[in-house]
Amino acid sequence: MNRREGVYNFSAGPAVLPPEVLEQARASLSDWQGLGYSLLEAPFTGDEFKALMDTTRHQIKTALAVPDHYHVVFLQGGASAQFSLVPLNLLPPAATGGYVETGHWSARALEEGCRYGRSHVVASARGTGFDRVPAVTEWALNDDIHYCHITPNETANGVQFPGDPDCGDIPLIADMTSEFLSRPVDIERYGMIYAGTQKNLGPTGLVIAIIREDLLGQARPETPTVFNYQAQIERQNRINTPLMFGIYLVHLMLDWLEEKGGVNAVHPHNIAQSQDLYRIIDEDDFFYCPVMPGYRSIMNVCFGTRDESQQQRFLAEAEAIGLMNLAGHSHAGGLRASLYNAQPDEAVAALASFMTDFRQRYG
Ligand SMILES: *Cc1c(COP(=O)(O)O)cnc(C)c1O
Repeated sequence: MNRREGVYNFSAGPAVLPPEVLEQARASLSDWQGLGYSLLEAPFTGDEFKALMDTTRHQIKTALAVPDHYHVVFLQGGASAQFSLVPLNLLPPAATGGYVETGHWSARALEEGCRYGRSHVVASARGTGFDRVPAVTEWALNDDIHYCHITPNETANGVQFPGDPDCGDIPLIADMTSEFLSRPVDIERYGMIYAGTQKNLGPTGLVIAIIREDLLGQARPETPTVFNYQAQIERQNRINTPLMFGIYLVHLMLDWLEEKGGVNAVHPHNIAQSQDLYRIIDEDDFFYCPVMPGYRSIMNVCFGTRDESQQQRFLAEAEAIGLMNLAGHSHAGGLRASLYNAQPDEAVAALASFMTDFRQRYG
């Protein structure tokens, strides 16, 4: 059931959504829940929207088996806003935030975090060109670190953590934007998880945060009220108008995920899809992957042609047959195929066959 027959979108975000979800979203635009008007016209203070928010929160908790001492909150400003809001909410002015630098997005989080207090690079893979995740045993964690920030899936570099790290008593803060709900997560390893929803879930601007209760209450007085985690939680996320349509889309995506069997079912499927591409990349020297095996992302497959002059041709020919948005991140270069939950197998098969064919013609 393709919207545009034979067109496949490999964008890193905003990214592919299931056609049936888009269809439901379309229907909500004319008449939402039989109200006779659109969701876009519905008051956020109404019972219908309140119920939708409660349901969606509950779906997130169920999907990831989130324990009761964690809160789920909807925030605005995209994942990048959290680079500042995490220290404003969780880092006392004299404390030190720890950062593990594994690629473009963790570097951005670190850079922004430095504006709000002392930052300490606990570990970095910059020296090896962001080709791996430094082993937790090598992280320079010490008692002075108030929290440790990580980016478990580096969207631009195609690097993914091999598992949920154990940082002991130091709260782990994770930007899970590009892997949220793609795999089961050991929530109790984390103090806070946040994710912009436009990568694996749909709408831009919306952020889902899962925060351990005991971390609340540390916000600096100057933290804007609408961005104060505790204030939003206490006031049922209704201090100001939430991103209603975005939350609705997330709700539809969670329904869809549930139908697919949840994170335990999509995870092996996501692994299998990425393996189909990595296998071709590793077959000979025509393509390469800059990331070491063991740390390669199952969401964002970053690769390139050894002969760089082939890359533009690859993109042009791919686009001509409907394989869209395969260019790498502007900072990382190369090529990238994003394989989020909603990426259909036919898309991966079409790309795999194009890659094999391209190699045969130009290799
Ligand atoms: C895309 C992305 C961001 C930035 O998200 P915005 O919503 O555009 O601010 C941050 N972190 C990661 C891991 C991302 O993939």
